[in-house]
Amino acid sequence: MKTIGLLGGMSWESTVSYYRAINEGVKNALGGLHSARIVLYSVDFDPIEKLQRKGDWEGTAEILSEAALSVQSAGADFLVICTNTMHKVAPQIEDTIDIPLLHIADATAESLVHNGIKKVGLLGTAFTMEQDFYKGRLIQKYGLTVLVPNKEDRKAVHKIIFQELCLGKIRIDSKATYLHIIDSLADQGAEAVILGCTEIGMLVNQSDTTVKLFDTTAVHAEKAVAYAI
Ligand code: GLU
Repeated sequence: MKTIGLLGGMSWESTVSYYRAINEGVKNALGGLHSARIVLYSVDFDPIEKLQRKGDWEGTAEILSEAALSVQSAGADFLVICTNTMHKVAPQIEDTIDIPLLHIADATAESLVHNGIKKVGLLGTAFTMEQDFYKGRLIQKYGLTVLVPNKEDRKAVHKIIFQELCLGKIRIDSKATYLHIIDSLADQGAEAVILGCTEIGMLVNQSDTTVKLFDTTAVHAEKAVAYAI
């Protein structure tokens, strides 16, 4: 079994989900008392979030590249960055390390393609929904059509991520907001919706809606398990 390197803490709430999903995946695959071999570097999210807001992505790249090097030095065979948003600086991180990176957008797109999905809705931070580093990869590399919510809904999705989910707050009214936005993406023709932020699975899951959901945390963790074993 390979050692999985996790770059987490963004936020730590979703890193907990990764840790659990990966260990459960290994246990299901190998049985007995098997568990995942993991090296985890969990960053302090506060300074990173401040740099994101300032648009200082190079600053975030420096912090995360250094953390990724530590993960590599500690013996990880490959790297998993436990956030969609910070894949914005995945190229800089990849340039710094020698071990492979399991890209979250590739893991998600492969799963969508495997399920025959061509037109998909995307929920995530404003960075993920509005910029090209994530959406562009889905469109250019996998030929997917990607729909994002309207401006007002993007604002609501983003705010709930940073002011609630990253702080471990789960609110029933926010869940209703998300489900309403998921429905409106389906009404516009989305055959499925990507939960493209690693905390969203804490708020909504497949049992809440008939719209097919792709939870990036679950998909990414599953890929990591398959790659490790
Ligand atoms: N975990 C989130 C994501 O998947 C948001 C936090 C961050 O900005 O990294 O995008």
